[in-house]
Amino acid sequence: MVFLARTLLAASATLLAVLSISLATGVGPGLGPVTVSGAAHERSRLGADGRAPSPFLSGGNDPATAAHWSTCQPIRWTIDRTNIEASGVARQGEVGRWQRVVASFSDVTGYRLKYVATKPGRAAHEPGVLPTIDGVDIVITYESADDPGGYQRPSLADSRRVAESWLSWLEDGTGRKRATTGSVVMDYEDLAAATGIGGYDPEDRFALMAHEFGHAMGLGHDEDESTVMFDEWLAGKGGLTDADKATLRALAAQSCD
Ligand SMILES: [Zn+2]
Repeated sequence: MVFLARTLLAASATLLAVLSISLATGVGPGLGPVTVSGAAHERSRLGADGRAPSPFLSGGNDPATAAHWSTCQPIRWTIDRTNIEASGVARQGEVGRWQRVVASFSDVTGYRLKYVATKPGRAAHEPGVLPTIDGVDIVITYESADDPGGYQRPSLADSRRVAESWLSWLEDGTGRKRATTGSVVMDYEDLAAATGIGGYDPEDRFALMAHEFGHAMGLGHDEDESTVMFDEWLAGKGGLTDADKATLRALAAQSCD
């Protein structure tokens, strides 16, 4: 799920990684909501070919069993603005980029993505704990592998991995998955290192942000490198392509269950 360049400074290929990690919350038949470990959940979802179907929707799997948000309720999202400047850009400009990214998703789907203002420092950010804030569905944070003041996420230690995202969901007995929580973590150290070299500028983050927010919405990777859901961060890429939008609409069509 991750493609990496040799080095941030490679002149010929500044391809930075984006990584998707999913955490599973399952509901068994006749049971209340239960949280299961990722490994156990993966085993329970193995298909006949021994492979676990991805909860993220891409070209190859069934929208009916992909994790998706309800279109009937607002989806509240926020940014914990701590460390934005450390990623090499002005806070206000970065928040504006996120607003435009999220608007591009609501424009396509009709999802009511509602921005909730929160104060910096609100997100849970301990290692091993997903960034979450009570009352918010999708939380965006800026962290690094070794921030001594908090916002430390060792999984970001690979210098070519510039962001991670998660999606949690509830699953019913038929395999349908209702998204419950999404998280996006931007690696401020790697972003700061990348900005201004290899053709990357702050606006190039738009596609990266759309990619990660796409995961938080339930999108998987696309093999077409022109799409934002292609799993390399490429300079000069714009917003959602027709292919991205088609996949997103298929998710949104799963509606209010
Ligand atoms: Zn990805």
